[in-house]
Amino acid sequence: MILDNKISLGFFPTPLQLMGRLSEKYPGFTIYLKRDDNTGLASGGNKTRKLEYLIHEALSQNFDTIITAGAQQSNHCRQTAAACAATGLGCHLILGGSEPEKYDGNLLLSFLLGANIHFSGENRKGEGISLLRTELENKGKRVYTIPYGGSNLTGALGFVNAVGELMNQMTTLDLKVDYIFFASSSGGTQAGLTLGKELFGLSSELMPVTIDKSETQGVTLEEIVFKIFTEGKEVLDIKKEYQLKDIKLIKDYDGPGYGVITQNEIFALRELATTEGIILDPVYTARAFYGMLDYLKKGRIPTGSTVLFWHTGGLPANFHYADQLR
Ligand SMILES: *Cc1c(COP(=O)(O)O)cnc(C)c1O
Repeated sequence: MILDNKISLGFFPTPLQLMGRLSEKYPGFTIYLKRDDNTGLASGGNKTRKLEYLIHEALSQNFDTIITAGAQQSNHCRQTAAACAATGLGCHLILGGSEPEKYDGNLLLSFLLGANIHFSGENRKGEGISLLRTELENKGKRVYTIPYGGSNLTGALGFVNAVGELMNQMTTLDLKVDYIFFASSSGGTQAGLTLGKELFGLSSELMPVTIDKSETQGVTLEEIVFKIFTEGKEVLDIKKEYQLKDIKLIKDYDGPGYGVITQNEIFALRELATTEGIILDPVYTARAFYGMLDYLKKGRIPTGSTVLFWHTGGLPANFHYADQLR
Protein backbone atom coordinates (compact mmCIF):
# COMPACT_ATOMS: atom_id res chain seq x y z
CA MET A 1 0.00 0.00 0.00
CA ILE A 2 1.34 3.39 -1.04
CA LEU A 3 0.54 4.84 2.41
CA ASP A 4 3.21 2.56 3.90
CA ASN A 5 6.01 4.19 1.85
CA LYS A 6 7.32 6.33 4.68
CA ILE A 7 10.00 6.54 7.31
CA SER A 8 9.46 7.60 10.90
CA LEU A 9 10.46 11.18 11.68
CA GLY A 10 8.06 12.14 14.45
CA PHE A 11 5.68 11.04 17.18
CA PHE A 12 2.32 9.81 15.92
CA PRO A 13 -0.57 9.81 16.49
CA THR A 14 -0.50 13.42 17.62
CA PRO A 15 -2.91 14.16 20.48
CA LEU A 16 -6.56 14.96 19.81
CA GLN A 17 -7.40 17.32 22.62
CA LEU A 18 -10.69 18.77 23.90
CA MET A 19 -10.53 22.54 24.48
CA GLY A 20 -12.75 22.70 27.56
CA ARG A 21 -12.23 26.30 28.61
CA LEU A 22 -12.31 27.59 25.04
CA SER A 23 -15.54 25.71 24.34
CA GLU A 24 -17.11 27.38 27.40
CA LYS A 25 -16.13 30.77 25.99
CA TYR A 26 -17.83 30.00 22.67
CA PRO A 27 -21.18 28.63 23.88
CA GLY A 28 -22.91 26.19 21.59
CA PHE A 29 -19.68 24.78 20.18
CA THR A 30 -17.41 21.95 21.21
CA ILE A 31 -13.84 22.64 20.12
CA TYR A 32 -11.03 20.14 19.66
CA LEU A 33 -7.41 20.61 18.63
CA LYS A 34 -5.36 18.13 16.61
CA ARG A 35 -1.88 18.73 17.95
CA ASP A 36 0.43 18.53 14.94
CA ASP A 37 2.43 21.25 16.68
CA ASN A 38 3.62 18.25 18.71
CA THR A 39 5.02 16.03 15.95
CA GLY A 40 8.36 16.27 17.71
CA LEU A 41 10.68 17.09 14.81
CA ALA A 42 12.75 20.13 15.90
CA SER A 43 9.68 21.69 17.58
CA GLY A 44 7.12 20.04 15.33
CA GLY A 45 4.59 21.00 12.68
CA ASN A 46 2.59 19.65 9.77
CA LYS A 47 5.58 19.33 7.42
CA THR A 48 6.81 16.34 9.44
CA ARG A 49 3.98 14.25 8.00
CA LYS A 50 4.91 15.20 4.43
CA LEU A 51 8.61 14.66 5.04
CA GLU A 52 8.07 11.10 6.23
CA TYR A 53 7.01 10.30 2.66
CA LEU A 54 9.32 12.67 0.80
CA ILE A 55 12.49 11.61 2.63
CA HIS A 56 11.48 7.96 2.22
CA GLU A 57 11.32 8.52 -1.52
CA ALA A 58 14.69 10.31 -1.57
CA LEU A 59 16.41 7.57 0.45
CA SER A 60 14.86 4.70 -1.48
CA GLN A 61 16.16 6.23 -4.73
CA ASN A 62 19.65 6.80 -3.30
CA PHE A 63 19.64 10.58 -3.37
CA ASP A 64 22.17 12.17 -1.03
CA THR A 65 21.19 15.83 -1.09
CA ILE A 66 17.88 17.67 -0.64
CA ILE A 67 17.00 21.11 -1.98
CA THR A 68 13.90 22.96 -0.95
CA ALA A 69 12.75 26.56 -0.69
CA GLY A 70 10.64 28.94 1.33
CA ALA A 71 10.53 32.14 3.33
CA GLN A 72 13.27 32.83 5.89
CA GLN A 73 10.81 31.91 8.62
CA SER A 74 9.66 28.77 6.78
CA ASN A 75 8.57 25.98 9.11
CA HIS A 76 8.80 23.63 6.14
CA CYS A 77 12.49 24.47 5.62
CA ARG A 78 13.26 24.10 9.33
CA GLN A 79 11.61 20.68 9.48
CA THR A 80 13.33 19.65 6.24
CA ALA A 81 16.69 20.63 7.74
CA ALA A 82 15.89 18.49 10.79
CA ALA A 83 14.75 15.53 8.66
CA CYS A 84 17.98 15.70 6.63
CA ALA A 85 20.08 15.87 9.79
CA ALA A 86 18.26 12.86 11.24
CA THR A 87 18.76 10.78 8.10
CA GLY A 88 22.24 11.94 7.08
CA LEU A 89 21.20 13.78 3.92
CA GLY A 90 22.78 17.04 2.77
CA CYS A 91 20.33 19.95 2.94
CA HIS A 92 20.22 23.14 0.87
CA LEU A 93 17.57 25.76 1.58
CA ILE A 94 16.76 28.59 -0.82
CA LEU A 95 15.20 31.32 1.31
CA GLY A 96 13.65 34.61 0.19
CA GLY A 97 15.21 37.98 0.94
CA SER A 98 18.79 38.89 1.74
CA GLU A 99 20.83 37.62 4.66
CA PRO A 100 19.71 39.30 7.88
CA GLU A 101 22.19 40.55 10.45
CA LYS A 102 20.56 38.46 13.12
CA TYR A 103 19.32 34.88 12.73
CA ASP A 104 16.20 34.14 14.77
CA GLY A 105 13.11 31.89 14.86
CA ASN A 106 13.01 29.23 12.17
CA LEU A 107 16.02 30.64 10.32
CA LEU A 108 18.18 30.22 13.39
CA LEU A 109 16.96 26.65 13.86
CA SER A 110 17.57 25.77 10.19
CA PHE A 111 21.12 27.05 10.61
CA LEU A 112 21.65 25.11 13.84
CA LEU A 113 20.30 21.99 12.12
CA GLY A 114 23.17 22.23 9.66
CA ALA A 115 21.38 23.32 6.49
CA ASN A 116 23.29 25.16 3.75
CA ILE A 117 21.37 28.39 3.40
CA HIS A 118 21.12 30.40 0.16
CA PHE A 119 19.37 33.77 0.15
CA SER A 120 17.39 34.37 -3.02
CA GLY A 121 16.17 37.98 -2.86
CA GLU A 122 12.63 38.63 -4.13
CA ASN A 123 11.77 34.96 -4.69
CA ARG A 124 10.61 32.74 -1.86
CA LYS A 125 8.79 29.96 -3.65
CA GLY A 126 11.58 27.97 -5.20
CA GLU A 127 12.29 29.91 -8.39
CA GLY A 128 16.06 29.37 -8.01
CA ILE A 129 15.96 25.62 -7.42
CA SER A 130 16.97 24.40 -10.89
CA LEU A 131 20.10 26.57 -11.04
CA LEU A 132 21.35 25.35 -7.66
CA ARG A 133 20.44 21.81 -8.56
CA THR A 134 22.65 21.89 -11.67
CA GLU A 135 25.47 23.41 -9.66
CA LEU A 136 25.29 20.63 -7.06
CA GLU A 137 24.91 17.89 -9.67
CA ASN A 138 28.04 19.19 -11.40
CA LYS A 139 29.80 18.54 -8.09
CA GLY A 140 28.62 14.94 -8.18
CA LYS A 141 25.66 15.24 -5.80
CA ARG A 142 22.49 13.24 -6.33
CA VAL A 143 19.88 15.89 -5.72
CA TYR A 144 16.25 15.36 -4.72
CA THR A 145 14.07 18.46 -4.96
CA ILE A 146 11.24 18.99 -2.53
CA PRO A 147 8.80 21.59 -3.92
CA TYR A 148 7.69 24.71 -2.06
CA GLY A 149 5.99 23.63 1.17
CA GLY A 150 6.58 19.94 0.36
CA SER A 151 3.35 20.14 -1.61
CA ASN A 152 3.28 17.43 -4.23
CA LEU A 153 1.46 14.11 -4.14
CA THR A 154 4.22 12.32 -2.22
CA GLY A 155 4.14 14.95 0.52
CA ALA A 156 0.35 15.10 0.57
CA LEU A 157 0.22 11.37 1.37
CA GLY A 158 1.24 12.39 4.88
CA PHE A 159 -2.13 14.05 5.27
CA VAL A 160 -4.03 11.23 3.59
CA ASN A 161 -2.55 9.02 6.29
CA ALA A 162 -3.39 11.65 8.91
CA VAL A 163 -7.10 11.28 8.15
CA GLY A 164 -6.87 7.57 8.96
CA GLU A 165 -5.09 8.49 12.19
CA LEU A 166 -7.77 11.01 13.14
CA MET A 167 -10.60 8.62 12.35
CA ASN A 168 -9.09 5.98 14.64
CA GLN A 169 -8.98 8.56 17.44
CA MET A 170 -12.57 9.65 16.79
CA THR A 171 -13.72 6.02 16.89
CA THR A 172 -11.97 5.46 20.21
CA LEU A 173 -13.59 8.59 21.69
CA ASP A 174 -16.94 7.91 19.97
CA LEU A 175 -16.62 11.43 18.60
CA LYS A 176 -18.13 12.98 15.49
CA VAL A 177 -16.49 16.16 14.19
CA ASP A 178 -18.65 18.38 11.97
CA TYR A 179 -16.02 20.83 10.73
CA ILE A 180 -12.23 20.76 10.45
CA PHE A 181 -10.57 24.19 10.21
CA PHE A 182 -6.92 24.53 9.16
CA ALA A 183 -4.48 26.91 7.52
CA SER A 184 -3.93 26.27 3.82
CA SER A 185 -0.98 27.79 2.02
CA SER A 186 1.06 25.63 -0.34
CA GLY A 187 -1.77 23.13 -0.78
CA GLY A 188 -0.33 19.79 0.33
CA THR A 189 -2.17 19.66 3.64
CA GLN A 190 -5.50 20.47 2.00
CA ALA A 191 -4.97 18.07 -0.90
CA GLY A 192 -4.01 15.28 1.49
CA LEU A 193 -6.96 15.89 3.79
CA THR A 194 -9.31 16.01 0.80
CA LEU A 195 -7.96 12.72 -0.56
CA GLY A 196 -8.06 11.18 2.91
CA LYS A 197 -11.66 12.29 3.40
CA GLU A 198 -12.70 10.46 0.24
CA LEU A 199 -10.46 7.43 0.83
CA PHE A 200 -11.55 6.80 4.41
CA GLY A 201 -15.09 8.21 4.20
CA LEU A 202 -14.57 11.03 6.70
CA SER A 203 -17.86 12.86 7.17
CA SER A 204 -16.43 16.12 8.58
CA GLU A 205 -16.50 19.16 6.30
CA LEU A 206 -13.06 20.60 5.54
CA MET A 207 -12.72 24.34 6.22
CA PRO A 208 -9.37 25.47 4.73
CA VAL A 209 -8.50 29.08 5.57
CA THR A 210 -6.08 30.69 3.09
CA ILE A 211 -3.03 32.41 4.50
CA ASP A 212 -1.31 33.72 1.41
CA LYS A 213 -3.28 35.46 -1.32
CA SER A 214 -0.40 35.43 -3.82
CA GLU A 215 0.09 32.66 -6.35
CA THR A 216 2.96 30.13 -6.50
CA GLN A 217 4.86 30.58 -9.76
CA GLY A 218 1.66 31.74 -11.48
CA VAL A 219 -0.48 28.87 -10.19
CA THR A 220 -3.41 29.45 -7.80
CA LEU A 221 -3.80 27.48 -4.58
CA GLU A 222 -7.03 25.91 -5.88
CA GLU A 223 -5.17 24.70 -8.98
CA ILE A 224 -2.38 23.15 -6.88
CA VAL A 225 -4.84 21.36 -4.58
CA PHE A 226 -6.87 20.19 -7.56
CA LYS A 227 -3.79 18.89 -9.40
CA ILE A 228 -2.55 16.92 -6.40
CA PHE A 229 -6.06 15.61 -5.76
CA THR A 230 -6.42 14.46 -9.37
CA GLU A 231 -3.06 12.65 -9.32
CA GLY A 232 -3.79 11.14 -5.90
CA LYS A 233 -7.24 9.95 -6.88
CA GLU A 234 -5.65 7.65 -9.48
CA VAL A 235 -3.03 6.04 -7.23
CA LEU A 236 -5.41 5.71 -4.29
CA ASP A 237 -8.23 4.40 -6.48
CA ILE A 238 -10.75 7.00 -5.34
CA LYS A 239 -13.86 7.09 -7.49
CA LYS A 240 -15.30 10.45 -6.45
CA GLU A 241 -15.05 13.12 -9.15
CA TYR A 242 -13.91 16.63 -8.26
CA GLN A 243 -13.89 19.74 -10.44
CA LEU A 244 -11.66 22.73 -9.81
CA LYS A 245 -14.71 24.57 -8.42
CA ASP A 246 -15.16 21.86 -5.76
CA ILE A 247 -11.89 22.90 -4.09
CA LYS A 248 -13.13 25.00 -1.21
CA LEU A 249 -11.15 27.91 0.22
CA ILE A 250 -12.11 30.42 2.89
CA LYS A 251 -10.45 33.60 1.62
CA ASP A 252 -11.85 36.14 4.08
CA TYR A 253 -8.75 36.40 6.27
CA ASP A 254 -5.70 36.62 3.96
CA GLY A 255 -6.19 40.28 3.03
CA PRO A 256 -3.09 41.74 4.77
CA GLY A 257 -0.78 39.38 2.83
CA TYR A 258 1.63 36.62 3.79
CA GLY A 259 3.50 37.15 7.04
CA VAL A 260 1.81 40.46 7.86
CA ILE A 261 0.68 40.41 11.49
CA THR A 262 -2.52 42.29 12.39
CA GLN A 263 -4.69 42.65 15.49
CA ASN A 264 -6.63 39.57 14.30
CA GLU A 265 -3.64 37.27 14.51
CA ILE A 266 -2.61 38.73 17.87
CA PHE A 267 -6.16 38.27 19.21
CA ALA A 268 -6.27 34.63 18.11
CA LEU A 269 -2.82 33.85 19.54
CA ARG A 270 -3.70 35.35 22.89
CA GLU A 271 -7.19 33.83 22.96
CA LEU A 272 -5.88 30.25 22.73
CA ALA A 273 -2.80 30.97 24.84
CA THR A 274 -4.76 32.51 27.72
CA THR A 275 -7.62 29.99 27.75
CA GLU A 276 -5.73 26.76 27.10
CA GLY A 277 -2.01 27.48 27.48
CA ILE A 278 -1.31 26.56 23.86
CA ILE A 279 0.76 28.69 21.51
CA LEU A 280 -0.20 29.24 17.86
CA ASP A 281 2.09 30.83 15.28
CA PRO A 282 1.55 34.36 13.98
CA VAL A 283 1.73 33.58 10.22
CA TYR A 284 -0.42 30.48 9.64
CA THR A 285 -2.31 29.04 12.57
CA ALA A 286 -3.28 32.31 14.28
CA ARG A 287 -4.77 33.59 11.03
CA ALA A 288 -6.74 30.38 10.45
CA PHE A 289 -7.75 30.17 14.12
CA TYR A 290 -9.04 33.75 13.96
CA GLY A 291 -11.08 32.68 10.95
CA MET A 292 -12.56 29.78 12.88
CA LEU A 293 -13.45 31.93 15.91
CA ASP A 294 -15.03 34.48 13.58
CA TYR A 295 -17.16 31.72 12.03
CA LEU A 296 -18.30 30.65 15.50
CA LYS A 297 -19.01 34.21 16.68
CA LYS A 298 -20.97 35.12 13.55
CA GLY A 299 -22.90 31.85 13.53
CA ARG A 300 -21.58 30.96 10.08
CA ILE A 301 -21.79 27.30 11.10
CA PRO A 302 -24.72 25.82 13.04
CA THR A 303 -24.85 26.05 16.84
CA GLY A 304 -24.27 22.66 18.40
CA SER A 305 -21.45 21.83 15.98
CA THR A 306 -18.30 20.05 17.05
CA VAL A 307 -15.31 21.74 15.42
CA LEU A 308 -11.71 20.65 15.19
CA PHE A 309 -8.82 23.02 14.62
CA TRP A 310 -5.83 21.26 13.09
CA HIS A 311 -2.88 22.95 14.81
CA THR A 312 -0.19 22.73 12.15
CA GLY A 313 2.65 24.15 14.25
CA GLY A 314 4.90 27.14 13.62
CA LEU A 315 5.94 28.01 17.17
CA PRO A 316 9.48 29.30 16.36
CA ALA A 317 8.16 32.15 14.17
CA ASN A 318 6.82 33.88 17.28
CA PHE A 319 10.37 34.72 18.26
CA HIS A 320 11.03 36.38 14.91
CA TYR A 321 7.88 38.51 15.10
CA ALA A 322 8.35 39.33 18.80
CA ASP A 323 8.28 43.12 18.31
CA GLN A 324 4.95 42.95 16.48
CA LEU A 325 3.27 40.66 18.98
CA ARG A 326 3.12 43.07 21.87
C1 LIG B 1 3.14 25.06 5.95
C2 LIG B 1 2.24 25.40 7.06
C3 LIG B 1 0.85 25.40 6.88
C4 LIG B 1 0.18 25.19 5.56
O1 LIG B 1 0.31 23.91 5.04
P1 LIG B 1 0.34 23.73 3.46
O2 LIG B 1 0.43 22.27 3.24
O3 LIG B 1 1.57 24.47 2.99
O4 LIG B 1 -0.88 24.34 2.86
C5 LIG B 1 0.06 25.66 7.98
N1 LIG B 1 0.60 25.92 9.19
C6 LIG B 1 1.92 25.95 9.39
C7 LIG B 1 2.43 26.28 10.75
C8 LIG B 1 2.79 25.68 8.32
O5 LIG B 1 4.12 25.70 8.55
